[in-house]
Amino acid sequence: MKEIILIKNGELALKGLNRRSFEETLARNIQRAAAPYGGVKVWRSQSTMFVTPLEGTDIEDAVEAISKVFGIAALSRAAEVPKSMEAILPAVCEYLNDELNDAKTFKVNAKRADKKFPLKSPEICAETGEYILERFPHLSVDVHDPDLVVTVEIRDTSAYIHRQPIRGAGGLPVGTGGRACVMISGGIDSPVASWMMAKRGLELSAVNFASPPYTSLRAEEKVVDLLGKVSEWAGEIRLHIVPFTEIQEAIRDYCPEDMLTVIMRRYMIKIAQIIARKDGALALVSGESVGQVASQTLRALECTDAAADMPILRPVIGMDKEEIVTIARKIGTFDISILPFEDCCTVFTPKHPKTRPVLAKIIEAEKALEAEEINIEAMIEKAVKDTRLTVITTEK
Ligand code: ATP
Ligand code: MG
Repeated sequence: MKEIILIKNGELALKGLNRRSFEETLARNIQRAAAPYGGVKVWRSQSTMFVTPLEGTDIEDAVEAISKVFGIAALSRAAEVPKSMEAILPAVCEYLNDELNDAKTFKVNAKRADKKFPLKSPEICAETGEYILERFPHLSVDVHDPDLVVTVEIRDTSAYIHRQPIRGAGGLPVGTGGRACVMISGGIDSPVASWMMAKRGLELSAVNFASPPYTSLRAEEKVVDLLGKVSEWAGEIRLHIVPFTEIQEAIRDYCPEDMLTVIMRRYMIKIAQIIARKDGALALVSGESVGQVASQTLRALECTDAAADMPILRPVIGMDKEEIVTIARKIGTFDISILPFEDCCTVFTPKHPKTRPVLAKIIEAEKALEAEEINIEAMIEKAVKDTRLTVITTEK
C-alpha cells in the first residue's frame, strides 16, 4: 500500500499574505530534513501539504526527521488508495489493523474535498463504520471520546486513510525570520537558546570562542556535536571558531581581577558582532538567565549590552535551570553538554567576580587594553581574520 505523510501547518495559517512564501520555505525545509534518509517529494493541493517518500526512503525515518521541522502543528501517515468504496473499505481494515485491534471504541471521520464523489460524508462514515464493526466485533462506536479516529479523505486524485496524527515541532519555518548568530559554549543553556530561536523561524550562525591551550580540541568537538543536534531542528549552521587566547591573556594581565569576566564577555560580544554582520545576521543569541551566575545579574547584563549595537536575544532569560534542562533532554543536547571539557569562560575565572559591576568603571578599566603596546583593536582584527569556519549539517 502506498503511504504518504500529511502535514498540518502550525501558526502558518495566521500569516495572511506571507502564507505562500512561508509554505515554500516549509516545503524546502521538509525536503532538506528528509534528504539524509533518501528524500521526499513535497506537494501542495487544496491547502494541504503532502509528502511522498522517494523510492528507498523509509517512511519511519522520514516521519522522525519531519517531526523536527518547525512550522508543523501535526503530521500523520496516510495510505493512498483509489477513489472507490470497494478499494477504501478493505484498505481501512488492512492499514489500521493494529490500531483497530488495540482500540475499544472508534469513530469515522470523513472529509470530501472532491464534491463529485458519489457518497456524501455522512454516508462514507456510515458505510465505513459498518464495515469495520463487522470485522472487528469487539469495537463499539463512540462519537464523543473514541480511542481511535479513522479518517477517510476523498481528494481530487485519490482517497487517503489516516493514521492517528502525531504532534509536530510547532513554531515557524526556519528561514522565515532572518538570521541570528548564536554565542555557543559547551554548556547546557546556549544550545537550548539556539533551538528556541530556530523555533521562531530564525536561521542560525554560531560563534564559539576557543582559548587553546587552556581549552582543548575536545571542547571544540563538543560544540560541533551540540550544534549537530541543534541542526536536526535548525538546518544548516555555520560555526565560526574564534581564537581568543591572546585577548583573554591580555585582559587577565592588564585588567582588575574582579572585572575579568565582564570585560571578557564584552570583547566576546564585540567580536561576535563583527562575525555576525559578515554572515548576514541581525541579532546575537545567548544562553544567559538572570541570576544564574555572577555575569548574569542585571548590572552585568547592562555592561554586556552596552558593548553591543545589535539586539542580543536571550530566550532562556526567565527560565529556571530545570526548565532549561527539560528542553536540553528533549532535543538531545543534555548528555553532550554535561561532558567535562573546559570552556574559555571557565579559564581565568576570578575567585570573587563583581556581581554588580558599574559600567563606567568597566569602561575605565578597558582603557588599559587600548594602550599602544597592547593594541586590543589589532588583536580583535587578528582574531576575526583567523576565525575558522565549520559548516554543521545533518547530511551523512
Ligand atoms: P551555557 O550553559 O550555555 O554554557 P552558562 O550558564 O555556562 O551557559 P556562561 O558561561 O556565563 O553561562 O555564559 C553565558 C553565555 O555566554 C552562554 O550561554 C553563551 O551564550 C555565551 N558563551 C559562554 N562561553 C562562550 C564561548 N566560549 N563561546 C561563545 N559563547 C560563549
Ligand atoms: Mg558556559
